Amino acid sequence: TTREWQAADAAHFLHPFTDFQSLAKKGSRIITKADNIYLTDSDGHRILDAMSGLWCVNVGYGQQALIDAATRQLKELPFYNAFFQTATPPAIELAELLSEVTPPQFSRVFFSGSGSEGNDTVVRMVRRYWDILGHPQRSVIISRNNAYHGSTMAGASLGGMSGMHAQGGLPIPGIEHIEQPYWFANGGDLGRDEFGRVAAGWLEQKILAVGPDKVAAFIGEPVQGAGGVIVPPDTYWPEIQRICDKYGVLLVSDEVICGFGRTGHWFGCERFGTRPDLMTFAKGVTSGYVPLGGVMVGDRIAKVLIEQGGEFEHGYTYSGHPVSCAVALANIRLIQELKLVERVRDDTGPYLAQVYTQLADHPLVAEAQTCGLMGALLLARRDAKGGRARPFAPEVGIGMVCRGHCFANGLIMRAVGDRMIIAPPLVMTRAQIDEMAALIRRCLDLTLADCHR
Ligand code: PLP
Repeated sequence: TTREWQAADAAHFLHPFTDFQSLAKKGSRIITKADNIYLTDSDGHRILDAMSGLWCVNVGYGQQALIDAATRQLKELPFYNAFFQTATPPAIELAELLSEVTPPQFSRVFFSGSGSEGNDTVVRMVRRYWDILGHPQRSVIISRNNAYHGSTMAGASLGGMSGMHAQGGLPIPGIEHIEQPYWFANGGDLGRDEFGRVAAGWLEQKILAVGPDKVAAFIGEPVQGAGGVIVPPDTYWPEIQRICDKYGVLLVSDEVICGFGRTGHWFGCERFGTRPDLMTFAKGVTSGYVPLGGVMVGDRIAKVLIEQGGEFEHGYTYSGHPVSCAVALANIRLIQELKLVERVRDDTGPYLAQVYTQLADHPLVAEAQTCGLMGALLLARRDAKGGRARPFAPEVGIGMVCRGHCFANGLIMRAVGDRMIIAPPLVMTRAQIDEMAALIRRCLDLTLADCHR
């Protein structure tokens, strides 16, 4: 029964990013099944999953092609490693396919088991690159406040979440942060485009403060996801690229969320017009059916590593896990077959943008943003005269109030502070977008009613 599951859960399972005591009091919601974009819980409730699990189930739940690929591979060869100058057919085939679907500078991949491990790989790889070239002092990696790059020591250090840094003495040495390109919070009186250039300029200021000869790389998510779906102005990334080029700083695109169609392009860097040297991926590569991550290694770095580097002393037991790679192959082929990237770019993405423009009229919404099939609604107090919105006091916890209503009404939306965010499966139809929007509106109304109580 649900109660039994909850009791055993509270007794034994330490959940990630969770206040253990409050969870034990409330009890977990037990998810038992899923199909397409809908989850079912242990009490039989149907829930529209507007977060694709955790930004990952791009092709939706229950895709037979992925299930078959895993089953076949489990029977044929459930595991073999890539350490002993050995490789398995699915890992090789996937490496080849990835080099086809990624931008042209990428013809090689280093596999990991997760996005966090991918970003740890990035830290070691960029430092190794500069070391091989005789510039070991070029070791500083610049990232951004409120970024999320994973939970390992290096991943969390690259991330800019102050709460994470406070637990465990992070960041590790040689990681610097700049402010995020969040126009609503940091834009002041500037227009979006002007702000985009100013925000990119913070990178140049940091490079000059650290010393250009000490900076190895800059890392960023094309759209900050866990930071609240912060869609940067279109002027931001081209300017970041120009600054990286000017100082010879490597550009790393964390595509763990933005990759595999989320933005209406195969990769977010293509949406925003950058040419990264490294690109981390995870989540959407297998639509989350099994764990897999990795780093696409651009030719500039691959050449140095391969021709001058000797052994790269780094890797994971599950680097190129055959079952994960088999599922990833089926997943990518399905994305191609269903034309999901094109569908998000030309149809459902623009439609979601339109729907969000309508949601922006809601009295609780101060800003509505989308990019492909991801979106954010900033909740704030708006007076009737349409003056500037005022944020809620943090004690109100307005995001969590709204999230509670979503949960109770059959919708999963995530709250990041006062931003309500979505990243639904890319198979979502227009009719399902309408269904989701109606649920969102209802939950916003209920949240607003709470504010007046
Ligand atoms: N990078 C980004 C942008 C992410 O959103 C995440 C996870 O949410 C990660 C890295 C870490 O990935 P994983 O949880 O697979 O380690």
